[in-house]
Amino acid sequence: MKFADLGLSNELLRAVDDAGYTEPTPIQAEAIPPILMMKDLVGIAQTGTGKTASFVLPMIDILSHGRSRALMPRSLILEPTRELAAQVAENFEKYGKYQKLEMTLLIGGVSMGDQMKDLEKGVDVLIATPGRLMDLFDRGKILLSGCSLLVIDEADRMLDMGFIPDIESICQKLPTNRQTLLFSATMPPPIKKLSDKFLSNPKHIEVARPATAATNIDQRLVETSARSKKTTLKKLLRSEDISTAIIFANRKTTVRDLQGQLKKDGFRTGQIHGDMSQPERMRELDLFKTGEINILVASDVAARGLDIKGVSHVFNFDAPWHPDDYVHRIGRTGRAGATGTAITLVTPADAEAIENIEKLTGQTIARGDKGAPKEKPKSEPSDKNEPPKPKRTSRAKTKSAGNKPAPPKPKKPQPKKSSRKAAPATAASSQTDDEDWNGPMPDFLSVKLGD
Ligand code: AMP
Repeated sequence: MKFADLGLSNELLRAVDDAGYTEPTPIQAEAIPPILMMKDLVGIAQTGTGKTASFVLPMIDILSHGRSRALMPRSLILEPTRELAAQVAENFEKYGKYQKLEMTLLIGGVSMGDQMKDLEKGVDVLIATPGRLMDLFDRGKILLSGCSLLVIDEADRMLDMGFIPDIESICQKLPTNRQTLLFSATMPPPIKKLSDKFLSNPKHIEVARPATAATNIDQRLVETSARSKKTTLKKLLRSEDISTAIIFANRKTTVRDLQGQLKKDGFRTGQIHGDMSQPERMRELDLFKTGEINILVASDVAARGLDIKGVSHVFNFDAPWHPDDYVHRIGRTGRAGATGTAITLVTPADAEAIENIEKLTGQTIARGDKGAPKEKPKSEPSDKNEPPKPKRTSRAKTKSAGNKPAPPKPKKPQPKKSSRKAAPATAASSQTDDEDWNGPMPDFLSVKLGD
């Protein structure tokens, strides 16, 4: 299959050729023709599959005719995080260079003034995170009645972040006679419901998960203890042949703390997490992309979908709570056919999380103890980053677990409740996107996440 067989314009084919892509990826080959025929589409695909170009390319051709009007964007792409929104914008710039389309990025953490000026001039493509879009809508700075093409990207991540009520509300503001494209790595019931409600007779496309298909990532588990995690990590960072690495931790506080310690120990590190402002995040990413730093300590939400070439290693300082996050994390290495290494530090408390990951990916991860300091597992104080160890209830129970405490159920991160119903979100409220959530489970999430 060639790009030329998909029905794209010559301008686009030239831009694709300039980008160095010779063949469409499976999702591109399957999605581009029906999108060009103005059909609704549900794409089950993750980042790393070429998913972004599968909607950006046909959108450019669809929107190349027609004119935008003030405050009335012609198309809307919803992204869960600012980084993903910025990445989609980069894709529009790369592929749209021979066609004149006005594009605006509406994300939290940057000045609303410039965004409003752009909207007043009229935009063809609006790429937005739900919080900032709703803020501007509530202020009457944007009209969605002229928006005839909607893309809901990373829908399952939107669900995790509590954005589904916002998305429903946004869908209701768009004309009913529109084209809607929905992309998600998984299809939990709330996303299926969203698709049934807002898409019209969509074409369904599913492509293989990168983690199940990727044989180019060398995955390894390194056993350690809560107390020795940092020492183990530093040993690995010194012994592995690292060009660039991303280290994932489950909490923002761990990201901050770990980055500080690694820096003190002479590693060239930066950090990225949801408490940082947009310019701060972009600056760290730039330092990483340009090689000023070669280790980035990251939280999941901030790093989701980041497309950085040549990452040689991914480390999971904490085993992820969601098995899906494991797939996303390790997908930051081994991109576009390159090889990569993904090492996960595991403590006894992570046993069930690892089991869930192996179940999801259908792969057994190799156990290797390279870099792990030898030590007795007995006198381990529990780390504040670890789920609490279960209390021993009886001798028999302890014995049957082979003298090791049974691993507790992994703690699931709770979704952040949308702030929209209680009060209109402020710019600040849409900035923190990976806060620890302590509130009650919203009604719409009565089903288990990731089911
Ligand atoms: P995405 O799934 O959109 O995050 O894309 C993953 C990576 O694949 C990005 O680095 C893209 O630039 C790259 N990519 C997109 N389309 C192609 C293609 N047809 N051939 C090779 N690489 C591609």
